[in-house]
Amino acid sequence: MTPEEFEDWSRKAAAWGVEYRAKLGDLPVRAQVKPGDILAQLPKAAPEQGDSMEAIMADVDAIILPGVTHWQHPRFFAYFPANAAPVSVVAEYICSAMAAQCMLWQTSPAATELETAMVGWLRDAMGLPTTWSGVIQDSASSATLSAVLTMRERATGYTGNREGLHAKGHLRIYCSEQAHSSIDRACWVAGVGQNNLVKIPSHPESPYQIDTDALHRAITADRAAGHVPAGIIAITGGTSIGAWDDLQAVGAIAKAEDLYLHLDAAWAGAAMICPEYAAEMWPGVEQCDSVVFNPHKWMGAQFDCSVQFLKDPTAQLNTLKIEPEYLKTHGQEVTNYSEWTIPLGRRFRALKLWFLMRYHGLEDLRNIMRNHVRWSQDLCERLRATPGVEITSEPILSLFSFKAAGASDAETIAAVNAINDKGVIYLTQTLVDGRSAIRFQAGSFAMHESDADVAYNEICQALGAA
Ligand SMILES: *Cc1c(COP(=O)(O)O)cnc(C)c1O
Repeated sequence: MTPEEFEDWSRKAAAWGVEYRAKLGDLPVRAQVKPGDILAQLPKAAPEQGDSMEAIMADVDAIILPGVTHWQHPRFFAYFPANAAPVSVVAEYICSAMAAQCMLWQTSPAATELETAMVGWLRDAMGLPTTWSGVIQDSASSATLSAVLTMRERATGYTGNREGLHAKGHLRIYCSEQAHSSIDRACWVAGVGQNNLVKIPSHPESPYQIDTDALHRAITADRAAGHVPAGIIAITGGTSIGAWDDLQAVGAIAKAEDLYLHLDAAWAGAAMICPEYAAEMWPGVEQCDSVVFNPHKWMGAQFDCSVQFLKDPTAQLNTLKIEPEYLKTHGQEVTNYSEWTIPLGRRFRALKLWFLMRYHGLEDLRNIMRNHVRWSQDLCERLRATPGVEITSEPILSLFSFKAAGASDAETIAAVNAINDKGVIYLTQTLVDGRSAIRFQAGSFAMHESDADVAYNEICQALGAA
């Protein structure tokens, strides 16, 4: 591509993005294609001769766009959000043009030092201890895997990597039954095994919090059985119903039992820049050894961007650092963030956080999230007051669940599918007490209060409620 063409198509791509965002609200939120529809339109082999950019871009609209689910849509209420604030998209254009591979300090000193600064800005904004450090990863799954590997190595005196795991006993990790599936997978691939991930039931008086007495009993029983307790994973904002553990109580157990404590706050962590939510949900967070949250969810940083805070990075470095000669930096004391994580190669993810926080300012980001919480809670109250609707879990920040009163699981799933096939809003299902329920979360940066009204009407129609 010539520099002139590069400029021309960069401008056209940017203009395409602006137009896309402007017309988003008129598109069905969830893609309306059937499995195989897109593949059937694609040639079986790569072309031998190059194609024109006009033809390629035309196919983006004709083939690709109908097969895209619009995560930036104002009425995306499914899963959790994956906001890409326009300013973070602009940062990604620049990042993409530089295309630096930021594995070591010397492979892009600015990426490393901006990362140190951004982790510090976020740490302070969230009220975490100023002595903590951290690293940017691709996903919460990777950060949690790093933490589980660290638990494993710490509990085996840092011999697991070298000797393998035979004869190390049953390493045991504890979490609540509300924990995310990424924790199961971390235990699978770390060699801990599903059977050694001990899922503790929720507190008898609250489905949202781990039963810390049961947690303590499980650890004691495991020690008596000759097992090797290695760590605890707590949650702030579980995916199903927003479960959040009492970190003071869990932290006290971790301390008394000398267990490594990791916190999964992938979604709700973003809201902890609001002091009122942190005051309610985060007392005791300073007792954690590791905390993950995804700026790529509710905070607006273009996917992917996951921050792992660490009280002290030594244990994780002792677990993951490897330094062959070809990766050494001789003669300088520097931070090489690839030693803190599993992949070697690293994108320049700090740039979009810098753009995002500078352009919006923390107060604007807080207010965006506060609006989502208010709109979601208002909608929950309207639904509660509507005959024929049953609230199945209470709002935790901007997440709650509901169903048609008395509906069977099949009827609830049918209602979810009917809503999403229509495409005006997008919702997903979960299980509450073993029964199907419909989740609602507000979190799109493009959302307005009127979008909650649209959601109310669509939901009432689909549930046959008044
Ligand atoms: C989204 C989410 C995850 C997984 O995050 P990835 O970045 O996609 O790996 C883990 N835990 C919770 C609570 C989440 O909401």
